[in-house]
Amino acid sequence: MRSNGYTGIKAIYTAFILCLLLACSKDAESNDQIIIEDPNGDPVTIDTSVNKKNVGDSANDLLSGQTFTELVLEIMYLDGYKPTEASISNLIAFLEARLNKSAGLRVVEKEITITQQTEYSIQDIIQIEDENRAEYNFENTIAVSGIFIDGGYDQNTNEGSVLGVAYRNTSFVIFEETVQSFANQPFAPSLTTLETTVMNHEMGHLLGLVNAGTSMQSDHQDVAHGRHCTTDNCLMYWTAETGEGLLDMLIGGTVPSLDTLCLDDLQANGGK
Ligand SMILES: [Zn+2]
Ligand SMILES: [Zn+2]
Repeated sequence: MRSNGYTGIKAIYTAFILCLLLACSKDAESNDQIIIEDPNGDPVTIDTSVNKKNVGDSANDLLSGQTFTELVLEIMYLDGYKPTEASISNLIAFLEARLNKSAGLRVVEKEITITQQTEYSIQDIIQIEDENRAEYNFENTIAVSGIFIDGGYDQNTNEGSVLGVAYRNTSFVIFEETVQSFANQPFAPSLTTLETTVMNHEMGHLLGLVNAGTSMQSDHQDVAHGRHCTTDNCLMYWTAETGEGLLDMLIGGTVPSLDTLCLDDLQANGGK
């Protein structure tokens, strides 16, 4: 009797756990699939999980032309927080110089509406991306998502106002309201210079810099500052990501470029 009762409870318990697992896997499945139209207008199911990996995981796919010959960049922005056309052109020029994409680069711009907050966590940003992103890897095209948002990053400190974060293998966010506030300071570089620096820097992380998805050809990781370069005028220097640091770094008013150490890494991983 006692053992039967125990078995019965155990069976119910197991069934309950199984249901939970099934429910979870079913949710995960539907969350990672969207249906789009192919060029003939026929519906195709896309697996979006390939665009939900870790920063640097798609470095080679982005740099080389082996699997993907085209890149589509989906720029999503809130009203009033769109990057300048010059910044977008600068980012495209930066990518064209580094990526082997024989079929070229395409930009899709889209205004989005969200529930606005004064600050956002990366979890919040991921949710916004998942609700609004429409471009995912498809056939020979690799897709990158960039969100331009109001408010600030919830990890900001008094000395560090974060301007951008690369947070998935093909996703970055720019805290555009923060970027604009620094551009409005006296003697600050232009908005386009600030936007271009931060966008290029976050793309650098998606390309696997530094030592994060793209192997180093020489030792130049500033380990104390994570995935950054030790060269203080390189685009991948750690100060390029915060407003306070960037104003110091951009005294000349020009967008920093990648130093030869970072370029060597990208070229060894399929880039130009
Ligand atoms: Zn960085
Ligand atoms: Zn560097």
